[in-house]
Amino acid sequence: MNADRVDNERASDAALASRQATLVPEQRSLIEVKNAARWFDVSSPWLERVLARKPRSVLRAVDGVSFSIRKGETLALVGESGCGKSTIARLLVGLYPLTHGSITFDGQPLSNMQGRKGLALRKRLQMIFQDPYASLNPRWRVGRIIAEPMLAHTQLSAAERDERVSALLTQVGLHPSDQSRYPHQFSGGQRQRISIARALAVNPEFLVCDEPTSALDVSVQAQVLNIMKDLQRRLGLTYLFISHNLAVVHHVADRVGVMYLGRIVEIADRDALFTTPQHPYTRLLLAAIPDLTGQGKSRTPVAGEVPNPLNPPTGCTFHPRCPHAREQCKTEVPVMQNFKGIEVACHGVVQGWEMG
Ligand code: SF4
Repeated sequence: MNADRVDNERASDAALASRQATLVPEQRSLIEVKNAARWFDVSSPWLERVLARKPRSVLRAVDGVSFSIRKGETLALVGESGCGKSTIARLLVGLYPLTHGSITFDGQPLSNMQGRKGLALRKRLQMIFQDPYASLNPRWRVGRIIAEPMLAHTQLSAAERDERVSALLTQVGLHPSDQSRYPHQFSGGQRQRISIARALAVNPEFLVCDEPTSALDVSVQAQVLNIMKDLQRRLGLTYLFISHNLAVVHHVADRVGVMYLGRIVEIADRDALFTTPQHPYTRLLLAAIPDLTGQGKSRTPVAGEVPNPLNPPTGCTFHPRCPHAREQCKTEVPVMQNFKGIEVACHGVVQGWEMG
């Protein structure tokens, strides 16, 4: 190893040791998202649009979202399919550029992800994808899959990479000899463990986990979640956890943000959100799951359909489905405000309407 490599690896080890000492979330924010938006132009082809006299269509997948994630904590984002959770995941790892707003990681803007500085920044952020069947190259052996990020982000020798792959496989509950096998030789849960090992290959600080257990059998979901929690505690990791499953979120999250049609409508500590939800949408989402305390509760699905995101309702976009909607809700967009320690965007909550 040359002197630079020794210094780099030592710096990386020192950073890991300091993160391992962090067993509870710090007050300092690692991630700051301010007024982030990602819009997609989904217009028909130009000629078709001109002939049919159709206007341009813009899908506001994420529109004016702000939140922060403290070092060492797990922030979960929940909401129905199409609410923009996965778009936020991709914005955070640089897979999509922002339309406007800003995202900073440890004080550095993520828009600067180009060049050597960008490479160093990207190493600190990794992603675990939803589908372990699609996210692993079926033609590569597991050892090569896990070692691949090390080729781009480290200067480890082949022997050092092999050693690290063995250690990573052990960390996620697999055997070092598994590196010579192919993905199809593993079960879904084992493949997701391989995905986790690959994400950890370059000692990241922040993991974006996009529905990491939703493609798995219920029986193996808990095992994978427990491995993730254990790794977080041992390695001092920070997670953004995307899920539509509130029972899973209750198990892993420190704080929870609830999304509806591209916006966060409520964000709070997990226990506050599950025991005293404020936003009518959060209340309906919670009423739709079996009682987490096991005392029995009927499942009441959220009434109505999610509106067309290409033509969202005016004012509060939840008003067509909200049992408490009033005239003001149809015209005025509610902004996020602090209400009894919970950030919530609802006219009724902040004005004290009767919503029992
Ligand atoms: Fe319901 Fe109005 Fe609150 Fe929207 S702002 S959630 S419509 S009460």
